[in-house]
Amino acid sequence: MNILVINCGSSSVKFQLIDSESEKRIAKGLCERIGIEGSRLIYTPAGGKKLTAEVKMADHREAIAVVLKALTDPQNGAVKDLSEIGAVGHRIVHGGENFSKATLITDEVKKAIADCSDLAPLHNPANLVGIEACEALMPSVPMVAVFDTAFHQTMPEESYLYAIPYRYYRDYRVRRYGFHGTSHEYVSSRAAVVLGRPLEELKLIVCHLGNGASISAVKYGKCVDTSMGLTPLEGLVMGTRSGDIDPAIVEFIANKEGKSAGEVLRMLNKESGVYGLSDGFSSDFRDLEDAYEAGNENAKRAMEVYIHSVIKYIGAYTAEMNGVDAICFTAGVGENSPIIRDRILHHLAYMHIVIDEVENHKRGEAVVISMPGPGPKVLVIPTNEELSIARQTFALVAGEKK
Ligand code: ADP
Repeated sequence: MNILVINCGSSSVKFQLIDSESEKRIAKGLCERIGIEGSRLIYTPAGGKKLTAEVKMADHREAIAVVLKALTDPQNGAVKDLSEIGAVGHRIVHGGENFSKATLITDEVKKAIADCSDLAPLHNPANLVGIEACEALMPSVPMVAVFDTAFHQTMPEESYLYAIPYRYYRDYRVRRYGFHGTSHEYVSSRAAVVLGRPLEELKLIVCHLGNGASISAVKYGKCVDTSMGLTPLEGLVMGTRSGDIDPAIVEFIANKEGKSAGEVLRMLNKESGVYGLSDGFSSDFRDLEDAYEAGNENAKRAMEVYIHSVIKYIGAYTAEMNGVDAICFTAGVGENSPIIRDRILHHLAYMHIVIDEVENHKRGEAVVISMPGPGPKVLVIPTNEELSIARQTFALVAGEKK
């Protein structure tokens, strides 16, 4: 069955068409600048060249129509007509406490997603618009919601509660939710396969290091802690997000510069992280790495604080799980930066981790990058959130048809 995976952002739609049987990607693409001057479609059929076209897209519904037209285009399309698309899997950022696994989309599910909009005001409304646009254009095709928060719903209370008056949890569900759950789940399962051991016996730490970054403790197949919180601002130092800070900083800076809390939060989301630490040099780790190697002080400062934050969480999660069998690196930085992995792992010599320099420089495949020994194994595992969404969508839809 062909599964269309849709990921709607505030002004973009990313999509992939995946054959659930072979698990091969048939086509992928991106609509960007939706509702803005210069909106365009970038489309790559399997084995074909990337095509870019300026197309007017006033809103997400028009963008989804453009996606479906591209997929059924007689020349460059991937399928003959829409009847060849068996189901649609939607990536949904926030499921609150309502969803601990993927679910078939009904009116009730849509309402629950809308109810979580105050927790993810940029993402959930866009995700909903994407669902409704697909429903309008493919009314008989089943739709599935796959939540970024779902995998983390197994966290115990001591991991997800904040030490603020309990009524904020009771009244408004203020708690740690965690994000990138689809990636943490996918990478944990792959790690078990690579290690040749049952997931249910393993204590894993998954470092999802991309532009946004989060780290999870996965004990016996279940998430027991994760670094992102009520929103994706908490935790590790990221591209432009601060990660953990003293909350008193918000009022302090607001008073100093006559800003509102909202303005300070915008700064913490968009102007902080390695971008802020490098004094605005770059949020892109490729630039930072090059500059770091060349001795640039701004890049050095940013990288040191970033690496320090990852090391700290690995130590904390090892203690929380009373040990760790494997540490996994994934996402843009985690998969592609031998230098950053090397710097992190050098601090873990106390765990008897010795890095295999040859394996550490391999790209694009799941590899063990630690030398054999008594310490935990270290793995690099390319994440594939779209494939995971397609698998979960197919499992639900196939289950319904039985
Ligand atoms: P997101 O999905 O959060 O946007 P990604 O997982 O795609 O993020 O990761 C993007 C980040 O990965 C960027 O900061 C980019 O610089 C970094 N990255 C990609 N390739 C490399 C590389 N070869 N070395 C270091 N960093 C890299």
